[in-house]
Amino acid sequence: MIGLLGFVGLWALGRWRGWGQWWLVAAALWWALLMGLSLPYLSSLPIARLLGATFEGWLVFGLLAAVVLAYRFGLRLLHRRKPVEAPPPAPAATFREAELDRYARHIILREIGGPGQKRLKAAKVLVVGAGGLGSPVLLYLAAAGVGTIGVIDHDVVEGSNLQRQVIHTDGRIGMPKVFSAEAAMRALNPFIEVRPYHRRLTAETAALVGEYDLVLDGTDDFDTRYLVNRACVAAGVPLISGAITQWEGQVSLFDPARGAPCYACVFPVKPAAGLAPTCAEAGVAAPLPGIIGSLMAMEAVKWVTGAGETLAGRMLIHDALYMETRMIGVKKQADCPVCGGAH
Ligand SMILES: [Zn+2]
Repeated sequence: MIGLLGFVGLWALGRWRGWGQWWLVAAALWWALLMGLSLPYLSSLPIARLLGATFEGWLVFGLLAAVVLAYRFGLRLLHRRKPVEAPPPAPAATFREAELDRYARHIILREIGGPGQKRLKAAKVLVVGAGGLGSPVLLYLAAAGVGTIGVIDHDVVEGSNLQRQVIHTDGRIGMPKVFSAEAAMRALNPFIEVRPYHRRLTAETAALVGEYDLVLDGTDDFDTRYLVNRACVAAGVPLISGAITQWEGQVSLFDPARGAPCYACVFPVKPAAGLAPTCAEAGVAAPLPGIIGSLMAMEAVKWVTGAGETLAGRMLIHDALYMETRMIGVKKQADCPVCGGAH
């Protein structure tokens, strides 16, 4: 018993005198003394009985302690080996009093803070499509304080959109979606710049991508998806891509310039007509674009601020009908016709 108390005493003494890790050396010496005194021909001495336990007991105790210490040391090595990228210096953005108040809940987050909020303010993000996924994406990017938000869409608001496209309103039926989205974002956050592009994304307009730091694509037609991917790869701009149908959605971050695959690496062939029906043909549950779109906006905030780990190289698949979420690894393909050999 006194033998065990000795370890506690050495630990306390070490804490008090500021020995740091050296108390372990003292503990090891104490353990060696206990082992020595519990050897068969010494264990009958009164002092040995006072210290307690047997030779085997102290041996097992010592081995267990060694295993615990080795595990902790291994963990520390692993943490040290994890590459810690120094975040780029925060841009020299300044905030007005009302902005500081608005973004206070971000600024107190250790992973975002003042520098992260400045990065958000300096960021230029292009959102392709102001529909189901675009609605939560645009609202959250605006609320989060992304300084410049571009939105491209050729459609007008229709009554059948309002079951899920929550950025639009009944009063704005007939209005081009980009202007309806612009009105909602300006009403939510007057401190950001919104750039609406009321047009279809074509090979010519794809040059727009180069003016932005990050692109989010939530369109539900495959030609646009492949076009946005090609434009992003050509401009070296990362792409957060989300897709939904009926009850299921998926999201990933494609960034071949930094080692992650591009959209075409994962989906090399466009599905045959009719095999991947659109929401209009197959239906979609109202909150599903809210779930997947919010994940896309979350990934954008993380990518811009450098917080946590993004979905680069991973794809999240969510099945809302059974409330199951899976994560699969996705890899860059060397023979990808879009990004293979490009970097
Ligand atoms: Zn690729």
